[in-house]
Amino acid sequence: MATSPDDASLRVEVPLDRLGFRFTEEQRLMRDAASSFARERIAPGAAERDRSGRFPLELVRELGGMGLLGMKVSVDDGGAGADNTGYVLAMQAIAQACASVAVILASSNLVACILADHASPEQRERWLSPFARGELGPAGFCLTEPDAGSDASALRTRAVAKGDGFVIDGSKQWITSGAHAGIYLVFAKTDPEAGRDGISAFVVERDTPGLTIGKDEHKMGLRSSGTVQVHFEGVEVPRSQLVGSLGRGYAVALGALGAGRIGIAAQSLGIAEAAFAEGVRYAAQRRAFGQRVVDFQASRFAIADSRTDLDAAWLLTLRAAALLDRGERAPMETSMAKLAASEGCGRVVDRMLQLHGGNGYSQEYLVERLYRDARITRIYEGTNEIQRLVVAREIVR
Ligand SMILES: Cc1cc2nc3c(=O)[nH]c(=O)nc-3n(C[C@H](O)[C@H](O)[C@H](O)COP(=O)(O)OP(=O)(O)OC[C@H]3O[C@@H](n4cnc5c(N)ncnc54)[C@H](O)[C@@H]3O)c2cc1C
Repeated sequence: MATSPDDASLRVEVPLDRLGFRFTEEQRLMRDAASSFARERIAPGAAERDRSGRFPLELVRELGGMGLLGMKVSVDDGGAGADNTGYVLAMQAIAQACASVAVILASSNLVACILADHASPEQRERWLSPFARGELGPAGFCLTEPDAGSDASALRTRAVAKGDGFVIDGSKQWITSGAHAGIYLVFAKTDPEAGRDGISAFVVERDTPGLTIGKDEHKMGLRSSGTVQVHFEGVEVPRSQLVGSLGRGYAVALGALGAGRIGIAAQSLGIAEAAFAEGVRYAAQRRAFGQRVVDFQASRFAIADSRTDLDAAWLLTLRAAALLDRGERAPMETSMAKLAASEGCGRVVDRMLQLHGGNGYSQEYLVERLYRDARITRIYEGTNEIQRLVVAREIVR
């Protein structure tokens, strides 16, 4: 259940015009298109999908048609041609409506960016363009394994050379959209002795013999993002499906994940802005001891601290996006954005749930789903401990 309609005296909208960033016409258009689609098409079924765990394949197809599976892919290649700031603005708007849809977009966009940066002309034509136009459904980004998460270089999936191609064997875990993807980007060891320099990336199509879908994870939140294990047993791929150079897969993955972190920061901002609006509205109509809950000083402090957390996260996220848009490497700034936004998000949803009292603990109120959806943002695309290592490494070498 959502709270009552907006009270005109409450300022709960996202204060984009007060952040001190001047957005371009293209960035605003990107934001507006994502925002209206999110409001009209994504938000209405989000609670039902959370309950049932149903993967929103029809919405993903529509988003693909809008170029949002490959937001930063050029228009010529079928994408939306957005820059990093446009990507952040769109992702935040979608996450505000449904975090599951946002993470489906995040992992597909990761694959799209890698293909846009590293695919050969033939690979662009065969996979990137149809995928970015939404014709292949979502993509699966297959890096993590049961025994290799933060330390992804410890992955055990093998790709052994055979004739003019490779045979892939291994299992991937926690693969977003895994059961519904049209293509998978799979990281496998082509030279186990070479450590990080012995990992390569391959495109594997859904119907390839030997590719099977395993356990469906029953998760605390993001319940409709279709997270599964994906198994590869004797999966044969020609050399033309190798993406980038042999042995450069790990560098490719880390490069994309680094820039992708602003997407998780934006997702955190989406969840937290939704919780903030819900919490303030709820506290403004709920009464205790003869007054509105929003009028207790403790509530006002919670609201002020939350708005401060939110604006700080916005500023760090937009700064990281702006640096990337200037063509700079920004490992420290993207990690700081992910770290601050996800931890700020955790604090905001917690405070806003507290403002709801017992109702916040009920599945009838939106804040309960937001609280569950928020928790993962501190874990994936590099746990926050890993983000801290990245930040510190840039300071102390
Ligand atoms: C819902 C969901 C969706 C996901 N989607 C995808 C996907 O689409 N594709 C994909 O490839 N992966 C995906 N992942 C995997 C995700 O990226 C990993 O779960 C994450 O990187 C952490 O790895 P791990 O779970 O193996 O934790 P571990 O690496 O086992 O970490 C356990 C703990 O140890 C800490 N730790 C580890 N190393 C260090 C260190 N050096 N210093 C300090 N602390 C450390 C971690 O921070 C953590 O607290 C997804 C995960 C989830 C839960």
